[in-house]
Amino acid sequence: MRMVGVFKNLPILAKQINTGNTRKDGNMRMKLAATAAIALSAMPMAASADGEVNIYSYRQAYLLEPLLNAFEQETGIQSNVVFAKQGLAERLEREGRNSPADLVMTVDISRLNELVERDLVQNVDNETLEENIPENLRHPEGKWFALTARGRLIFVSKDRVEEGEITTYEQLADDKWNNRICTRSGKHPYNIALFSSMIAHHGEAETEKWLEGLKDNLARKPQGGDRDQIKAIAEGVCDVSIGNSYYYGNMLQDENQRPIAEQVRLVFPNAEGRGTHVNISGISLTKSAPNRENAIKLMEFLSSPKAQRIYAEANTEYPANPEVKPSGLVAEWGEINPDNLSLQEIADNRNAAVKLVDRVDYDGE
Ligand code: FE
Repeated sequence: MRMVGVFKNLPILAKQINTGNTRKDGNMRMKLAATAAIALSAMPMAASADGEVNIYSYRQAYLLEPLLNAFEQETGIQSNVVFAKQGLAERLEREGRNSPADLVMTVDISRLNELVERDLVQNVDNETLEENIPENLRHPEGKWFALTARGRLIFVSKDRVEEGEITTYEQLADDKWNNRICTRSGKHPYNIALFSSMIAHHGEAETEKWLEGLKDNLARKPQGGDRDQIKAIAEGVCDVSIGNSYYYGNMLQDENQRPIAEQVRLVFPNAEGRGTHVNISGISLTKSAPNRENAIKLMEFLSSPKAQRIYAEANTEYPANPEVKPSGLVAEWGEINPDNLSLQEIADNRNAAVKLVDRVDYDGE
């Protein structure tokens, strides 16, 4: 894997960084971080070259590196990656037909859907991908394919919340949790997707009431990321939080954060009913795709059991390919019963969810 650039919230003014041949260089990420602020030359990504594939990625380097190295070993095809925290859709739009990007790798259905809505990606009609990725985890015309899934779970204090005391998202609005819940911003895509799923199941009016109830139960103004809410539980700020499954997994695997994560118990919400809300990370083939054939080979590879195993282990996520079991740690949590509401429906309710968050002033602005 060759990293050709890193953007840090600089979607328009982002500078390209040519790292040269830094493949498999353990210090690569740090070097890039150190030089990211320095203005550098123009795009070194060749539009089309034999044996190459170009990726725009919202996913982090450490996740992609082992996958792309394995792909190169198997096929001899070299991957060039531009990482960004945001603005990739804008960039693709700007570059239009001349974009060197073949693939976009991203998290969250809202971002995948954005690529479709802006008409930046093309259909992939491919038997291998259709066999490897279940129908509900891919776009009906192949405009995106999920590669991993994550549950949006409830975390509770082991000390202060009894087992079985809370089992559903709906209960987050119950008075008994008054002043006892912490979450990140209601506007974050992860929460927007959860709220969208609530709208799909209960309608807008009922979801608004629920969201008001949840807001009234917050122990503090929404802030930080999902991990910070688990920390807040450990610190006694609140007793209940909402968070993605892999954050908990990653905390358990981190020596320093493990004692914090061990203070909480995980709950798979609505496990007995409609199932737990899940979101995905996924991949799309761009409209321009100068290396279309190589790109599809990479998509096939990423959906294969071999790559799915690497991917799911690297971030304690659920493999999208049902043939691959979750990592040992994730399996220990028990089986997830995913809400099989279509991801498209979640994407379709996104705007309504954003409006609700504003209307109830969830973030208290
Ligand atoms: Fe995340």
